[in-house]
Amino acid sequence: MQIIDNHTHLNDEPFRGKEQYYLERAKALNVTKVICAGQDPEFNDRAVDLAQRFDNVYAMVGYCPDVAKDYDQKAEDKLIEQLQMPKVVAMGEIGLDYYWDESPRDKQREVFARQIEVAHDLKMPVDIHTRDAFDDCYKILKDSNLEYGAILHSFNGGIDWLNKFLDLNVYFSYSGVVSFTKATEVHESAKAVPMDRFMVETDAPYLTPKPYRGRQNETGYVRYVAQAIADLKEISLEKVADATYANTVRVYGLK
Ligand SMILES: [Zn+2]
Repeated sequence: MQIIDNHTHLNDEPFRGKEQYYLERAKALNVTKVICAGQDPEFNDRAVDLAQRFDNVYAMVGYCPDVAKDYDQKAEDKLIEQLQMPKVVAMGEIGLDYYWDESPRDKQREVFARQIEVAHDLKMPVDIHTRDAFDDCYKILKDSNLEYGAILHSFNGGIDWLNKFLDLNVYFSYSGVVSFTKATEVHESAKAVPMDRFMVETDAPYLTPKPYRGRQNETGYVRYVAQAIADLKEISLEKVADATYANTVRVYGLK
């Protein structure tokens, strides 16, 4: 059995200099590949660096909504250069965040749509962060060419949003939230999501799943996210692992 964490921040502060240690702990839990998410120039560089240093680490790069205000031609040129490097497998995380509103909303929308276009030109998928912004996110995705796939990271929508997005070439990545007792809407969507349309992630160091909720998250704990979904779907952990492994390898084009 092998599990992939398709969205983790191994490039973040708590893991610096200890990446090998956390990757070994992950391996002991059958987590054999991880995709390290970028978000701004510094974290993008760190993600690319980790992908170069570790066999089983892949990277994505992008301008998240917080830094959408800084996106310009120079930023785009750099992203295009990084997206063509070995083991950089997606544009991400990109999207909309109307909770923090760190960039003006019209700029967030413009930069989100533009990065989807850039990814499409390079035949790559996009990894999406959306907070308090499902309506606009859906509109932008519907108007975009998603031929190479889009992944909704830490998907916390219910059945209605699941069904709407299922009509597009969108994949649903569940995080530790799916293990939380009170997240009943997410439970319903995880039960209903088709086996060929979902993935699992940690978003570590955030969103620690049960039974470690309250502690710092780490990439190996994606196993507990997969277990929570197996329990909800009333199938084995192996089945969730096999399906999400195949989906992740296919959509991100992992070797
Ligand atoms: Zn993230």
